[in-house]
Amino acid sequence: MDTILKRSWAEPYKMKMVELLKMTTRAQRSRAMKKAGYNTFLLRSEDVYIDLLTDSGTNAMSDRQWSALMLGDEAYAGSKSYYHMENAIQKYYGYKYIVPTHQGRGAENILSKVLIKKGDIIPGNMYFTTTRLHQELAGGKFVDIIVDEAHDPFNEHPFKGNVDLNKLEAVVKKYGAKRIPYVSIATNVNMAGGQPISMKNLKELRAYTQKKNIRIIHDMTRVAENAYFIQQREKGYEKRSIREIVKEICSLTDGATMSAKKDALVNIGGFMATNEWEVFEEARNLVVVYEGLHTYGGLAGRDMEAIAVGIEESLNDHHQRARVGQVEYLGNKMESYGIPIVKPVGGHGVFVDAKSFLPHLTQDDFPAQALAAEIYIESGVRTMERGIVSAGRKPNGEHYYPKLELVRFTVPRRVYTQAHTDVVAEAVAAVFERRKKIKGLRMVYEPKYLRFFQARFEPKV
Ligand SMILES: *Cc1c(COP(=O)(O)O)cnc(C)c1O
Repeated sequence: MDTILKRSWAEPYKMKMVELLKMTTRAQRSRAMKKAGYNTFLLRSEDVYIDLLTDSGTNAMSDRQWSALMLGDEAYAGSKSYYHMENAIQKYYGYKYIVPTHQGRGAENILSKVLIKKGDIIPGNMYFTTTRLHQELAGGKFVDIIVDEAHDPFNEHPFKGNVDLNKLEAVVKKYGAKRIPYVSIATNVNMAGGQPISMKNLKELRAYTQKKNIRIIHDMTRVAENAYFIQQREKGYEKRSIREIVKEICSLTDGATMSAKKDALVNIGGFMATNEWEVFEEARNLVVVYEGLHTYGGLAGRDMEAIAVGIEESLNDHHQRARVGQVEYLGNKMESYGIPIVKPVGGHGVFVDAKSFLPHLTQDDFPAQALAAEIYIESGVRTMERGIVSAGRKPNGEHYYPKLELVRFTVPRRVYTQAHTDVVAEAVAAVFERRKKIKGLRMVYEPKYLRFFQARFEPKV
């Protein structure tokens, strides 16, 4: 095999334009954090040095994508740019019929409305927030059928995104195949920390669902990252290209929803895809109501041009190796400082375990929230809480106490350098050195819904 694959993950691109960042002092950051109520979502992005809040829509586009923007055909109907995007999706993913949408959740809304009836059951390999909500709004109920290992942050299973076929079999026995319009399969499962499903598992799932006449719908938001892990970890795929692996994954499913803001290297956009004419016809009717005409679906012509180019670039082996390589590099560097992280490191981010980082705090002290605030004050690095604040309250008013109390470091694609990555790990190491002095937080304002976005805190004294 090509020996280059054993070397460093260095970027397969160089810089032609840069965005200048404001450099801040510790005193400025302390004031900014206080003003933001110790909630990183309430910081102004101009006060942030390295922004690891999310990898959604934060990608850097290439010179080819920027020049494609200029070729955008802004016709209301039948835009050339739509056909470029359709052509890329058919060529690289292999789906037959495409409906563009403004982003992933727009596709989820339409797909759920077309396929789900009241009382239906949708088994899936872990939920995603917007995906599950649209399934529920359409009258369905989500059932988790992911392998148990996915729920254990320190289990080093190489394919924590796999489906447990026994769990699926139990769901089919209990409700009957007729009430299951499709199995919802995410590649590189976001909520499990960016963990892949294996081709072997997907093939077994395909064989089973074909017997039962149940569709597989693919949440392909992170399919290229999943293909990279298959290439690295699964027997028989070492010599296959990401492009071939992605096409094979898609060929084992009947349709898809996509947020192009992730793997497809753009800042906005998405689509729904299906191989069934009837499903397409219905979706094409609905998209006009919710998104826009079926040849633009809420997107400008230039957005569709950028997606067409982004899809192709995302399937380049060197790109994907550098993308996941950078995330792994960050995880390894943190580990070398003794910082507790979730293993194995996922495709899009590193998750720091705030419970072991700050063992002197209880969950009522909001340890992950406090740690995210400290990391920002230390360095200007913005991360986010995934713990008790994100989990919210039960219907009876008590907090949910999730097992995991994590700080998420999500890495935008092609945006930061290796030196930035070093700065992030060093900042966390500096906070780790003084961890015993870190105090918990008190919540002083709590919104009713999705409180993590707007809640405000003060340090406990
Ligand atoms: C981001 C995401 C979505 C939703 O897409 P948006 O473009 O944010 O609407 C759906 N599924 C997964 C796995 C995602 O990561």
